[in-house]
Amino acid sequence: MNCTILGGGLSALSLAYFLQKDENIDEIHILEKDFRPGGLCRTYIKNGIEYDVGPHIIFSKDKEILDLMNNLLGENIEKHRRSNRILHKKRFVQYPFENDLSKLPKEDIDYCVNAFIHNPYENYEAKNMLQFFLKTFGEGITNTYLRPYNEKIWKFDPAFMDTQMVERIPKPPKEDIIRSANGETIDGYLHQLYFTYPKHGGTEALIRAFISELSIKVKIHTNAEVKGLEKTARGFRVTTANGAYESDRVVSTMPVNELVHIYYDPLKPEEILNTADNLKYNSIAICIVNVKKDYAGDNYAFMVADKNVRFHRISKLDFMGEGYHKEGTATYMAEITYRKNDLNDKASDEELVLKVIEGLETIGFIDSEEDVNFTELKRFEYAYVIYDLNHRQNMDLIRQYFDSQGIYLNGRFGAFEYLNMDAIIRQSKQLAETIRNKK
Ligand SMILES: Cc1cc2nc3c(=O)[nH]c(=O)nc-3n(C[C@H](O)[C@H](O)[C@H](O)COP(=O)(O)OP(=O)(O)OC[C@H]3O[C@@H](n4cnc5c(N)ncnc54)[C@H](O)[C@@H]3O)c2cc1C
Repeated sequence: MNCTILGGGLSALSLAYFLQKDENIDEIHILEKDFRPGGLCRTYIKNGIEYDVGPHIIFSKDKEILDLMNNLLGENIEKHRRSNRILHKKRFVQYPFENDLSKLPKEDIDYCVNAFIHNPYENYEAKNMLQFFLKTFGEGITNTYLRPYNEKIWKFDPAFMDTQMVERIPKPPKEDIIRSANGETIDGYLHQLYFTYPKHGGTEALIRAFISELSIKVKIHTNAEVKGLEKTARGFRVTTANGAYESDRVVSTMPVNELVHIYYDPLKPEEILNTADNLKYNSIAICIVNVKKDYAGDNYAFMVADKNVRFHRISKLDFMGEGYHKEGTATYMAEITYRKNDLNDKASDEELVLKVIEGLETIGFIDSEEDVNFTELKRFEYAYVIYDLNHRQNMDLIRQYFDSQGIYLNGRFGAFEYLNMDAIIRQSKQLAETIRNKK
């Protein structure tokens, strides 16, 4: 029996890693449209500096998967302590915001603490993300940071997003908020407090590590954009830019909203096409900026809620160690999300780079454009799944349809879920088990 996997990112490679152990499977074909596998885990290089598609870090609550990632990387890992900051009115507030309130101006501290302690929204059921923030943190913390930051990263009103992303965030105890307002910084989100990162090679080192573990059963075909999929007497025929593959089993990790259109089914309900077209996602532009002076200190990522600054996050790549540092300089990565036809989408790359430089001046990371040595901007269409209010219902329908066709969905845009690397690998492990049991 053979299995064909559409797409060649982490979800495809980790699935092949688990599936190759299945003695009923003789061949696994991975079809990737790009000239190299890796998807969102690819790493790029500019003037000797390696950078990811938005800074990636390795962390997880799932110990088995975390150990797997770290073991695969072997000697090539460095442990780091999270040092993330929220930039608020030119002040550095430690992440998460509610745990370091004393860094705010006095009037903001009073607003946040008072609205938290006397919170009229406390006893309502939160039906969307905004309601969750108001209920859990009160109006002050919500309006000072959570709401503007989330509007900026999602480019979507949190009142129209569901609670899937946030429902596991714990409500801080009143004593913690008071301690934080009184000057004590409390570490939060402890599973992300320490993380690992490859010493060299960026996140793509993890991709290479998975590939090095694949047996000869697994064939990776690059420049193989999947253009068609149909059922046959044997199973499926997958058509690519350079040939067709007959297959017993098919797993798709390519974006499901595109799969719906290339899958040939004369009885495909119109509703499936419409539902897939209604799935919401964000694209991302990442901009590398190498500068002459370092004003960011020993910090990694900075969240910027200020809407006068175009990027929502800026990360100092030097933080990751020698492999990511250029002597006498600092290198930042700015991230800007967008969707088709919005202002960032329509802006040229040159305009976005100028906006990034302006933003760096506004937050005080450069004095003027003169401080910039070089920049590089790249865009990626698929970056973030948006859990809008219809997401769950839309995906249930689409999943049911592909289940009925015998096609498995896997991966961030394959299954259209907000999944980090650990969750992707866990999902691949479970899917390999499902395929093994389906005899
Ligand atoms: C900005 C950003 C920051 C992130 N930071 C972290 C982090 O810190 N920690 C963490 O754990 N995770 C992080 N992630 C998440 C992580 O990148 C993803 O979970 C993971 O890379 C998803 O892998 P995937 O295989 O599901 O999807 P993808 O990587 O999107 O792979 C899909 C592949 O399918 C290919 N493809 C698409 N269409 C076709 C077609 N028609 N034919 C053939 N191939 C096709 C694509 O080229 C791509 O290679 C981050 C993601 C982003 C966007």
